[in-house]
Amino acid sequence: MSDLTNAATSAPRVTVIGTGYLGATHAICMAVLGFDVLGVDVAEDKVDRLNAGEVPFFEPGLPELLTKALDSGRLRFTTDYAEAGAFGDVHFLCVGTPQKPGSNAADLTYVESAVSALAPHLNRRSLIAGKSTVPVGTAARLAGLVRELAPSDEVELAWNPEFLREGFAVEDTLRPDRLVFGVASAWAEEQLRAAFGPVIENGTPVVVTDLPTAELVKVAANSFLATKISYINAMAEVCEATGADVQQLAQALSYDTRIGGRFLRPGLGFGGGCLPKDIRAFAHRAEELGVGQAVAFLHEVDAINRRRRERTVDLVRELAGGSLSGVRVAALGAAFKPDSDDVRDAPALDVARMLQEGGAIVRVYDPQAVENARRAYPDLEYATSTFDAARDADVVVLLTEWNEFREVDPNALADVVAHRRVVDGRHALHAEGYRAAGWEYRALGRP
Ligand code: NAD
Repeated sequence: MSDLTNAATSAPRVTVIGTGYLGATHAICMAVLGFDVLGVDVAEDKVDRLNAGEVPFFEPGLPELLTKALDSGRLRFTTDYAEAGAFGDVHFLCVGTPQKPGSNAADLTYVESAVSALAPHLNRRSLIAGKSTVPVGTAARLAGLVRELAPSDEVELAWNPEFLREGFAVEDTLRPDRLVFGVASAWAEEQLRAAFGPVIENGTPVVVTDLPTAELVKVAANSFLATKISYINAMAEVCEATGADVQQLAQALSYDTRIGGRFLRPGLGFGGGCLPKDIRAFAHRAEELGVGQAVAFLHEVDAINRRRRERTVDLVRELAGGSLSGVRVAALGAAFKPDSDDVRDAPALDVARMLQEGGAIVRVYDPQAVENARRAYPDLEYATSTFDAARDADVVVLLTEWNEFREVDPNALADVVAHRRVVDGRHALHAEGYRAAGWEYRALGRP
């Protein structure tokens, strides 16, 4: 494997517009790979923190790389679009595309305003490469906007969807499974090949395609992953009605190499800033295009996923004896997945909220996400450790499968709770260990 550093001296200068989870990671990694990089964001505090060497969110390995990149002199951050236009040969667009309030559609206002702010400063040949996840057809529309607003008529637009996973963002950026280049010309392909030179030299496969295919690859990938998760959770529902064990079912399925075990873990289901809003926006866009029926199953995928949250609340209620009123619940986990502090559409917090609405007294603990959780759900109580959350609890419910929670000694935990009752919302705890320590152990889809 070749050394992943040292972009060629003719390497393009790169801007990264939008420095959130995706953009900050991309900007930092590009600088570490040897490119000169300017990160751009409208959030001044974020820009200040990044310039000061502080990653504004939790991502393993990223703070060290930010320090390295800043020390190299190849990375800085600004709020100034004129500076970005003058600096960059390739402009990566990484702003958010959340769900539109009151609709399943993607909110494209951030993408549109970023392009509208950048394009008037593009006086020379350059490439805008979209990385944000967008509905198919967006790139073509944005290309029209660029033609209207850019002083140079040599500015092109490409789409380069991003597949990084929070928690593994550095590794996924430096050594992705694949790169997808949606381009309208050989020149645009050349620019992207130059911008990813060190990654391509390392053996990463590149798929070169047109704009709509590149846009679709991303939502097709996320739809597949969401479907796989909801598939095994649908099996969990059937298991619950029959007394079968979905964990053993999943294990047996996983040995079939045509199926494989990844994304086949039953439990509380998916959340976060990508999967839920991406499948909804995809279904919405397909309906607009008159092919809604082709992906109508995504509505069911979403519905199965939501039912897991309700069913987790039911399990806590059942364990508590039929009512949540006044029941003290220790909620372990707030982030939408381990190794992240991201609480966007987090199943854990949704369950905590529903438990509280049902009358329970809920104390939430998460190794990294308490601050974000408190901002999103100020009415929940927060604890400073697993044992602090569990003190005098009537039921402990595991909602995010951090290693810290897997490693808890059930005997030690038993000493602080009021009742030894645990709901394992992620199939992450050692059931036999808990039962041996005198706990009533329940998990979705298991007898
Ligand atoms: P985020 O909310 O963390 O970051 C978005 C950033 O864009 C924020 O810092 C915001 O201040 C900034 N911004 C908004 N408007 C701007 C503008 N006009 N100019 C400059 N900056 C602006 O979101 P994210 O999780 O990084 O996601 C960004 C995009 O990447 C989304 O389309 C998402 O679906 C996609 N994506 C995310 C991930 C992930 O794991 N987070 C993975 C793959 C793809």
